[in-house]
Amino acid sequence: MSSKDDVLIIEDSPAIGMLLKNYLEKLGYTQIRTCTNGSTAIETFKELVNLEKHPIVLLDYMLPDMDARSILTQMLEVQPNARVVLETATEKDDEGIKELIRLGVYQYLEKPIRFENLKSIFETIEKEQSFFEKESEQVKILKEAAEEDQIKLYDHIDFILKSAKQISLNFIEQLIGFSDKSIVLHLNELEKQGKIITLGDKKEIACNQCDSVKTTQIFYCPSCKSSNFRLGKLVEHYDCGNISEESTYKNDKCPNCDKEIKALGVDYRLMQNHYICNNCSEFFPEISTYYLCLKCENKFKLEEVRWKTSKNFKVVNM
Ligand SMILES: [Zn+2]
Ligand SMILES: [Zn+2]
Ligand SMILES: [Zn+2]
Repeated sequence: MSSKDDVLIIEDSPAIGMLLKNYLEKLGYTQIRTCTNGSTAIETFKELVNLEKHPIVLLDYMLPDMDARSILTQMLEVQPNARVVLETATEKDDEGIKELIRLGVYQYLEKPIRFENLKSIFETIEKEQSFFEKESEQVKILKEAAEEDQIKLYDHIDFILKSAKQISLNFIEQLIGFSDKSIVLHLNELEKQGKIITLGDKKEIACNQCDSVKTTQIFYCPSCKSSNFRLGKLVEHYDCGNISEESTYKNDKCPNCDKEIKALGVDYRLMQNHYICNNCSEFFPEISTYYLCLKCENKFKLEEVRWKTSKNFKVVNM
């Protein structure tokens, strides 16, 4: 048996952190680190990457000091193929969660956490990992095989489909490493057998340099370019013009002029969902963004993306 990957648990509740650690030890993971906040988690993650590790990260959606999106971004910047499993009690359909999934969260773990779910997620990660390790070598073999022995190529497509719920033709070709009409023929055959369903066309963002659709969105502070930020509530005191976080108004007193704030909408207002930079303390209603190609590490802006359209498939019974 090969040794298991390191695991980094980011969880502010010590009880849940301990529960996860116990579960993972049962699955044979021995190198487990637990952090209770975002900033130490980023430090620990960098440390592990410097040691040439590729840790599996369990990230709690709600942390006191840092937005989950900020943590994810910072990790992807250090390691573009970071494997982050998001744990949350929030519905999967929640916009914030959906966005994180689009950004590159690898898997999604529902709270309360069940051992069976955790186990199946880690098994999928291991399967995919062994696949990616062999990827470049396999591309060469498969290219040749596509011409002579189509069975190998078909097995490979099946394997990819088994680890997905929805996947586009572009993405399948990206994972295989080339496009070939036999891929489409095999997908048609699978659809006839009722294993997959065509959902229509899907438009995906592709790298403007290498054309890969394996890209992710990186968020950063418009002022200092740091990806270390959190989402918070601000209060504007009309009398003196002070704007700062709600928590700075201790005992309902303005931190700038020391006057008491009295009536919402009359002498002060609340500004919900503002991004507050943990690095430079500036705040913004919107955060800046660019795209990162996970294949060639090219960085590009939304105006520069290349759009690729291909058929999208739903995997029903592979
Ligand atoms: Zn690229
Ligand atoms: Zn900043
Ligand atoms: Zn004031």
